[in-house]
Amino acid sequence: AIPKIAVIGRPNVGKSTLFNRLAGKPLAIVDDRPGVTRDRREARGRLGDLEMLLVDTAGWDTEAVGQMENEMRDQSESAIQRADICLFVIDAREGVTALDRDFADLVRRSGKPVVLLANKAEGKAGDLGIAESYGLGLGEPIPISASHGEGMADLQVAIIQGL
Ligand code: GDP
Ligand code: MG
Repeated sequence: AIPKIAVIGRPNVGKSTLFNRLAGKPLAIVDDRPGVTRDRREARGRLGDLEMLLVDTAGWDTEAVGQMENEMRDQSESAIQRADICLFVIDAREGVTALDRDFADLVRRSGKPVVLLANKAEGKAGDLGIAESYGLGLGEPIPISASHGEGMADLQVAIIQGL
């Protein structure tokens, strides 16, 4: 069967950008503001000759203001449960935040295989965040740039090893 892959992480780390790159088309809305709701969350994707069923996460309803974090957490939790493997994304330029640690705990508690992705790693601006992300305890981070398409071969290898 085609592996189901959940893209997990707090808002704005580049999950939808990665989803769209793997899907090969701009199905999910990429935005640097929260509150975008009407984006597509599941699609067939491909990385080299690896086919996958992708699930994007952490969109939420603007009506849910005040409950935003709970909604994100619930949505992420159900995506993790249905997934064969999780791609856990952080923003290497921002470094590891408290919310990253919350989402990392969710993934860890699920017991699902996880690939840690340090996104926005083009150039040198992500070097500190990459180093910091070892502390999440999710294994060795893979530096990628979802927007520039860097690190995709390493990502493919890590997914195949994790499955
Ligand atoms: P999501 O909220 O996690 O789904 O994040 P989005 O995919 O919507 O991206 C949030 C912001 O980060 C957007 O402005 C993207 O253009 C930007 N972004 C995503 N990937 C990269 C990347 O690899 N490098 C840089 N510099 N910016 C990125
Ligand atoms: Mg998104």
